[in-house]
Amino acid sequence: MKKLIAALALALITQPALAEDAPKWSLAIHGGAGTLDPKQMTPEKRAAYEAALQAALEAGSKVLREGGSAMDAIKAAIIPMEDSPLFNAGKGAVFTWDGTNELDASIMDGRDRSAGAVAGVKTVRNPILLADKVRTDSEHVFLMGAGAEAFALEKGFPVTPPEYFATPARREALERLKAEKLLALDVDHKFGTVGAVALDQNGNVAAGTSTGGMTGKRWGRVGDAPVIGAGTYADNRACAVSATGWGEYFLRVGVAHEICARLRAVHEVKAAMASTPDAGNAVEAKEAQYIIDEVMADVAGLGGDGGVILVTPEGHALFSFNTTGMYRGRATSAGLREVGIFGGETKVTSTPDH
Ligand code: ASP
Repeated sequence: MKKLIAALALALITQPALAEDAPKWSLAIHGGAGTLDPKQMTPEKRAAYEAALQAALEAGSKVLREGGSAMDAIKAAIIPMEDSPLFNAGKGAVFTWDGTNELDASIMDGRDRSAGAVAGVKTVRNPILLADKVRTDSEHVFLMGAGAEAFALEKGFPVTPPEYFATPARREALERLKAEKLLALDVDHKFGTVGAVALDQNGNVAAGTSTGGMTGKRWGRVGDAPVIGAGTYADNRACAVSATGWGEYFLRVGVAHEICARLRAVHEVKAAMASTPDAGNAVEAKEAQYIIDEVMADVAGLGGDGGVILVTPEGHALFSFNTTGMYRGRATSAGLREVGIFGGETKVTSTPDH
């Protein structure tokens, strides 16, 4: 009983007090960040990307509008992007050095910080669903390779033929990388990882990320996307984050957890310093934006690039990226709805609307 009272007291302290007009739900999505050149983007290509982002945004928004959970919303948003050959996740994943497609994904529920992740999966059409199965139906958080596939089989996931994931453009990228001895970034130009973060009407947040990794990856290389705390993190007390970018740098900074930890600290300090009990500890959009920009600056300082999407319990849906563009979208119950591709020269941050 004592424990329960203590837990309730803690929850009261740590749950941010919300403004009256705060959005009831929020969603942000990404389809990768990178060196995007407007001159290379034909009107047809642009329309195709925007349509794919709109479809994903609508799939997730519908769940949230109808009172569904943040977890269901992020899965609904990520699945169409995994199924689209435009993005580097599921169908359309980049090739490994050995000419295979190896998929990584992770998912996290901010309610209880339950998490699931898979790496190096070759025959599962929607890795985000397998990551979620690890979360809900195993005692583990992270499964890899053959073991993850055995788990998928046992849980009734159909075996998708590896050819399903292969696309000519990604194969050409691998061939060029090998022939010209290039780096992944020279042939990919953008990180096509997909991700979604959401806040639902019950105040719960969730995050998910899915990727094929980087072209020419070898030796079992795994990036940040399936690593809880690097590419994905969700905690009701702070935020939900999904990242895209040069995975090695995001791993070293622990980007997603770093952002949530800083936001949680702001909540805690505000609560502790509040002059009156109802003064509230809500984080303002500009404060959250400052934190994601700072963490991305840290990534840039080490030499990495990419971007993040964020939602907070207050309903802020924000982006930060240090590349020339990021495929992205956001929607809230307050009527915000937008997709975007390009940004400014080096860093772009959204204008927070709420
Ligand atoms: N972050 C991913 C990785 O390093 C790549 C991406 O964002 O597209 O595997």
